[in-house]
Amino acid sequence: MDLVTTRSVIRNVAENMVASEPELTRLDQIVGDGDHGLGMQRGFAAVATLLDGDTCNPQDVGGLLLQVGTRMMSSMGGASGAIFGTLFRAGGKAIAGEPCLTTPVLSRFLNEGLNAVFARGGAKPGDKTMVDALTAAAEKAASLQDKPLVEALPEIAAAAHLGAEGTKNMVAVFGRSKTLGERSLGHVDPGAVSMALILQFMAEGVTE
Ligand code: ADP
Ligand code: MG
Ligand code: MG
Repeated sequence: MDLVTTRSVIRNVAENMVASEPELTRLDQIVGDGDHGLGMQRGFAAVATLLDGDTCNPQDVGGLLLQVGTRMMSSMGGASGAIFGTLFRAGGKAIAGEPCLTTPVLSRFLNEGLNAVFARGGAKPGDKTMVDALTAAAEKAASLQDKPLVEALPEIAAAAHLGAEGTKNMVAVFGRSKTLGERSLGHVDPGAVSMALILQFMAEGVTE
């Protein structure tokens, strides 16, 4: 997927994430403080504005995703602003200079983004965060390097959704939901669902 197509796919992800606000709000009302939907909505509305404007002129897909992350970080606030901003910024930097988004390039983005999220937030797999969805996606992407992106992305998104589902069986140790302790059992982590939705919406828009 070249730069122009990747930009329009991410633009479409932004629109769909804005529309996911009610679902994400509901999930964070159960296990958190209820602001995750509004935070993601604010962040992706800012990303949509960025991509619609003519001040965003990245040279390559790495630069594009870096700018997306910077915009998320500056507009969202909360734990997820720092976490999702870090994913896109570090992942974008790791694929600097790449003219196209391919499966190996996406794999590197997810893997380096995950490492940066580890470094930034300290959450490990099993701690009931977006890390659980992102780890599942990064592992799946690494195993599909030879598949074209149109085939790999739906599988990567499905793996992320499974990772998010798995957070139901975890007790939160990070963020607001840690105060819930065992009561968070049985409910998905909202950030993990956001991570899976981002990849799902990418998969729905992807072309070669
Ligand atoms: P806040 O917790 O500040 O209200 P949000 O509600 O927007 O922020 O985001 C909560 C989500 O952020 C959680 O569902 C979780 O997935 C993610 N999160 C919180 N802390 C961390 C962390 N240390 N590492 C990774 N993800 C985290
Ligand atoms: Mg919250
Ligand atoms: Mg909050």
